[in-house]
Formats: sequence, structure tokens, C-alpha cells
Amino acid sequence: MSSETSPAVLTDVARRGLMLVLSSPSGAGKSTIARTLLAQVPGFELSVSVTTRARRGSEIEGVHYHFKSQREFEIMRDNDELLEWAEVHGNFYGTPRAPVEKALTEGRDMLFDIDWQGAEQLREKMRGDVVSIFILPPTMKELLGRLTRRAEDTPEIIQTRLRNARTEIEKWIDYDYVVINEQLDPAFSAVRSIVEAERLRRDRRPGLFDFVAGLLAEEPN
Ligand code: 5GP
Repeated sequence: MSSETSPAVLTDVARRGLMLVLSSPSGAGKSTIARTLLAQVPGFELSVSVTTRARRGSEIEGVHYHFKSQREFEIMRDNDELLEWAEVHGNFYGTPRAPVEKALTEGRDMLFDIDWQGAEQLREKMRGDVVSIFILPPTMKELLGRLTRRAEDTPEIIQTRLRNARTEIEKWIDYDYVVINEQLDPAFSAVRSIVEAERLRRDRRPGLFDFVAGLLAEEPN
């Protein structure tokens, strides 16, 4: 099905945006799925996190992250400018609050590439707005292979991430959906199906009240 004919485009009543949280251990393919979603499914924007982690060579300030000093991060956190925050692999990460609130009220969907700690905080604070998907690797061997092939991190960092992957994977049960990413295409299709169904949920579409009232007021004869 092409994106032009997807149910997302057919949803023609006022709708509140949804928060799609994708979590996985590093290397399970979450970032690729996230990128594909942003490129192929209209109506999504990425929540750009703030982080104290050093910028990787391929990353662009303001696109992949807002890179901050520890001090700058603490100021944002203490001013309640972050919807959630967590320490991951020894660095701090957080989700800026303002863009999320604006998007949801304007009926735009947001994608979050955050860890389980962030997902937990968003579920608590934003309850019905959050749809969470956990991406699993097919095997731990494949996970290590993907981390190594990425070649953007030092061997020490790769080992830390592999250790942390086990802790992260144990959180799978808290998620609404679980997708095993053995191959990108079927994994991505599964994510797209989840999005299309969630966009049609009655409780996200306050515009249905008017729509149905209009239907019932109609005299077809
Ligand atoms: P990386 O350093 O590889 O970009 O990200 C490391 C981990 O931090 C990933 O699991 C990523 O999802 C998570 N992460 C990125 N941004 C945020 C954020 O704003 N909040 C939380 N809780 N985790 C984040």
C-alpha cells in the first residue's frame, strides 16, 4: 500500500497527536526503523532530545540531538523544561517538553527514540497519548555484530552497550507492542501497521463527536 492511500491520510476528523515511543537495546535497528518511519509515513516528526554525550562524526546538532554541557542539561532539567530524562550509558538524555505539547494539540504525531526509563516516565505523565513499541534483535550474536559493524564507537563502549542490552531487554514486558527485527522490511511493516491502527482509535479523535452528530442530523431522503 502506498503512503498516499494509507488510512492515516483518510483520517479526516480533528485528532490529538500520538506519542510513538520506540525503544530497544543499542544496535537492534531502532534508529533505522525510526528513520524509515519518518521518511515514509506522513505526519510524523522526531522529538530531538538533548544529551550530554559527545557528538558522533555523522551527527548534526539540532537534527540528531541538541548537544549540551552537563551544566546546560541540569539547568533545563531543573527548570522543568524536560518531559522526561535519564542517565544512559553514563550520559544524560532528555526530551524537551515544549515541542511535544505543541505537536499533540495541533494533531501532529511525534516519534521518540528513547530508552525504557524515558518510556516509563512518559507513560506515567502522558498516559493515553503514548503508544510504545519495543524492538528486539533476533539473537544476541546479531546484536553484537550490528554494534561492531556500526564502527562508530570504541570497543569499550560496545562492551558497555552489550552489557546494558540485557537490562534493557528485560523491560520488554512494559511495552504495548513488541517487534522482532530480523529483517528491516517486515519489522518496519509491523511498525507501520501499529501506527495506522493507533491513529484510528476512537479516543484520539474528538472530531468524531461532530462528525457523527452531523451524520445523524442528515436527512438522506
Ligand atoms: P545513543 O547514544 O546511541 O544515541 O543513545 C543511547 C540511548 O539513549 C538509546 O537507547 C536512546 O534511545 C536513548 N535516548 C536518546 N535520547 C533519549 C532521551 O531523550 N531520553 C531517554 N530516556 N533516552 C534517550
